Amino acid sequence: MVTPQDKEKVIPFEFIPDKASETTNIDGKDYLLMNDAFYTFYQRSLGELSPFFLAIRDEKRILGCRCTVCGLVRVPPFVTHCPFCDFAPTEPVEVGQEGNMLSTPPITYFANSLFAARAPFGRGRVILEGADTALSTMLYTTTGILVPGIIKRGTEVKVIFRDERIGEITDIFCVPTAELTPQQIAEKGLQESELSWIAPAEPEFPEASAEDIAIYQRSLKEMQSLASEMSKSKRARKAIEGWKRDIAVKTRGGEFAMYIDDGDFRIEERKLESPDFVMACADPRTLLDGLSYKGAITDAVIMKRLWISKNMEFNTIFKLDRLARFLAREKKEQAAG
Ligand SMILES: [Zn+2]
Repeated sequence: MVTPQDKEKVIPFEFIPDKASETTNIDGKDYLLMNDAFYTFYQRSLGELSPFFLAIRDEKRILGCRCTVCGLVRVPPFVTHCPFCDFAPTEPVEVGQEGNMLSTPPITYFANSLFAARAPFGRGRVILEGADTALSTMLYTTTGILVPGIIKRGTEVKVIFRDERIGEITDIFCVPTAELTPQQIAEKGLQESELSWIAPAEPEFPEASAEDIAIYQRSLKEMQSLASEMSKSKRARKAIEGWKRDIAVKTRGGEFAMYIDDGDFRIEERKLESPDFVMACADPRTLLDGLSYKGAITDAVIMKRLWISKNMEFNTIFKLDRLARFLAREKKEQAAG
């Protein structure tokens, strides 16, 4: 049973400020600033679009509207009268749940706070079977991180329904039909829990040469010294405030552990039994460069030089880049100061 406490709130808990105050000094005078609340809630009607969202929520069907004169099928059914036909009425019509991408979708790796928990995702327009217009949708792959090349213009995709639906457009998303079984493709109203979210296979590295091991040991030392600088930097600590992750890092020359713990950042040469996620890069200098602010780690993931085991941990990669950037900025200021 879902108790009221378990339900997601309109305003996520982390956006609610602590009861606290601070002092600010303006022109030599101290002023007290107090955290307080001023807000309101409202309900909005989805009006004429209600049948479209109700069909998604309750029946796992996608509705469009067909013009009774020209026959054009619009999905979503955002008009009740066709502007091309002297405002002739339209009628509701159900469309298919497979379609083709109208264009190559851009991938959002850095989403605003509303969508951060869902990133990375593709955002594109799909023309469903029986429709004449394109529906905007979020796109995922079941094979790990969505990287360029998996979904392109013309790629055939299928609508997937989330298990928990409240009647909003994020109740549905699409995945390539190439990743589905014929039975799944045939099933109407396929749900996310029916998909197999394949953990992407961890990359395997060839046997390490003496040089690989030397590179690994050198890089590890440099990363450890960077990590201790980061832990001492007030600015850098901000980047990983409130974040906790144990990460296993595998490279050709050896394996080590990275610990992020609410501002503390530590690197140790040991194998983790149950890490939060795994990072793998053949050459540890990919990660070293990232932590030294010589190239973004996020770029290394997107360019497939660095592999991570969980799609949603892209968030952590983003924080590591900020950690590097904040330390570099502090050092630069100190050098200038
Ligand atoms: Zn028409």
